[in-house]
Order: sequence, then structure tokens, then C-alpha cells
Amino acid sequence: MSNVSRILNKSDLQQSDLVQLLQSEGEERQKFREKARVIKIQEVGDKVYFRGLVEFSNICAKDCLYCGIRKSNEKVLRYNATDDEILAACRLAWENRFASVVLQSGELSSPAFVKRVDGLLKKIKQLSNNELGVTLSCGEQTRETYRRWFESGAHRYLLRIEASNQELYNKIHPHTKIHSWEKRKEALQFLRETGYQVGTGVMIGLPFQTMEDLAGDLLFFKSIDIDMCGMGPYIEHEDTPLYQYRHLLKTKQERFELALNMIAALRLLMPDINIAAATALQAIDPQGREKALAVGANVIMPNLTPSKYRKEYNLYEDKPFSEEGTEQQIRQLEESIRLSGFGVGYSTWGDSKHFFRRTRQTK
Ligand code: SF4
Repeated sequence: MSNVSRILNKSDLQQSDLVQLLQSEGEERQKFREKARVIKIQEVGDKVYFRGLVEFSNICAKDCLYCGIRKSNEKVLRYNATDDEILAACRLAWENRFASVVLQSGELSSPAFVKRVDGLLKKIKQLSNNELGVTLSCGEQTRETYRRWFESGAHRYLLRIEASNQELYNKIHPHTKIHSWEKRKEALQFLRETGYQVGTGVMIGLPFQTMEDLAGDLLFFKSIDIDMCGMGPYIEHEDTPLYQYRHLLKTKQERFELALNMIAALRLLMPDINIAAATALQAIDPQGREKALAVGANVIMPNLTPSKYRKEYNLYEDKPFSEEGTEQQIRQLEESIRLSGFGVGYSTWGDSKHFFRRTRQTK
């Protein structure tokens, strides 16, 4: 029996097992990815859930060294979509039976920002007769802010740890108080205690990152018992400090395959969580998201950001700017999902099964 086959028969995957899975190639890799696909269908079904993504502002107080919209990048045209524009995008999602939206922005924590998000949540619930589910992705906030937004209707929150190895985290962030790994980890704990379905994720293929780091990321997700995950290949951006290390990077295709292996390995490790097919996959391969569905992902976030702002939410190079909100594009995406062997779970939140299992256990 091959090493990978032996690992696939194990019930408790260790870091060294995960490293081997991540490095697998050829037939072994096919076998491993096929197993992840089977487990996904067994555990979370064959439906894909849409979350309409609204990147409502690119104004950010932070300076992460890899990010195209970091505060110090003066080339970025900053925008703040109006409430009406945001609500129109949410209405579009609702009318197309998406059932959920993701509100994403740069990280701000001023009272005005907190109040604004709070007001938006109430308006989204109102416009959709309480039907639209809302995921927030607005960075680190205080426990009180998380509670306030939860009470106003958000029920899922995405906060990527980006690198679970603190040493690596410190290499890709400035060494200041607002960029602290401990603070980020603590925020994940606050979210969980507040009652959110909690999602996190990492970048795959960063300079200085090892296979052990990536295996460690997967074990970190398990140790903090996440409900959802969104992770994709790291793609360099020339207006960022990390760009100087681009000679250390794997090819984009290698990062892409590694990202698919990470998704497949996570599906084996945490069979009943929701895993998003990240947009960064699509930046490398136009069929990237569909390929992710085939190895374990079950969520897609079509971009509904008003088109005039889309180019300014440029987190990394080659980020796709195409519109995804027209009837025709939604039908195309649906068809491409159907060709991958899956269907779209319309008009249903498609919440994390893991969340319900873990909260039943702790109640
Ligand atoms: S990664 Fe997020 S917090 Fe960091 S600079 Fe970019 S938008 Fe801001």
C-alpha cells in the first residue's frame, strides 16, 4: 500500500501525514482528492451555496505587508459605497435566491464605522423580510462590537488568521500593536463566544512558508474548532513590501495545486465544515473555483460589489473584476457548477453543519 493510501485510512491525521498529503502528486494526489470529494458529498451534500460578496469599502487602518489596499499604498483610490449601493447589491442577491451576502471591508474600528455596519445589518434584514443571511468580514473588533453586530443580524464572521505560525505571521505584518497575532487569535475567540459561525483561513504559498507551516495551519483550524474556512493561493502585488521576496515564491500553478491540496486535506480533517472556493483560485485558473468544489469546497462567493468600485478592491494582482451579478452570469456559473457534478442550494442559508453539531454538544 502506498504511503498516501495508508494515510487515507487513518482516523487521526498528524502533521507529518498532512505534509505528505500536501506534497502528493500524480495518482496518489488523485486518490487523495477523490476521497475528499466523497467525504464532502457524504458530510455536507452535493449542493453549493452562494454568498453574494459586497466589498463595500477599501479604506483600511492597517498595513499588512502583502495587501494591495494597505493603508500606505497611495496609489489606491479609496472608496466607501453608499448605503443605497450596498442595499441594491443585497437586493440583487436576495432576488436571485442567494439567501446570503458577505459584507467585506478594510479594517476600521471608529464609532462611526461600527454604527454604520450596525445600521446596514438592520436595513438588510428589513429589505429581505429577514430572509438574507449576513456574513461579516470587517476585521478585528472589540467584544462589544461583535456582540452589537450579532444582535443586529449578522450570524457568520470571517476573520482570516492568514498564517497560524506566529513567526511567519510576524514576517508578513508590521510589528505594531494593531498587527498582533495574539490579538487576532483573541478576536477569533470573542467571535466564537458571541455565538457566530466562525470562519478563518490562510494564504497558501507565501514567501518563507514551509509545508510544515501549512500542515500546522490545518491543525490550528481543528484546534480552534472553526465552522468555516476560506483560503486561497497567495498572489503577490507589486505595490506591497512583500513583493521584494517574489523570487522565493513557487510558480502560480504550483501555488494553485497546493491550495487545492489544502482544501482536500481540510475536508478530510474537518468533514462537516463549510469551505469556500476562494476568488484567488480564479485569478490563476478561470475554472479554479469549480476545481475547488471537486476536492472539497462547498461555498462560492459571486462578487456583487458595484462595478465602479471593483478595480479599487485590488488585494492582489490579477484579481478578477468581471461582473457576476447579471442574470446571464448567474446562469453561466450555475451551469458550470452543474457540469462539475453539483447543484446550487438556492433560497437556503447553507449554514455550517459543524456549527450546529458543536453548539448542541456545548449546550
Ligand atoms: S489584509 Fe485586511 S487588514 Fe490588512 S491591510 Fe488588507 S484590508 Fe487591511
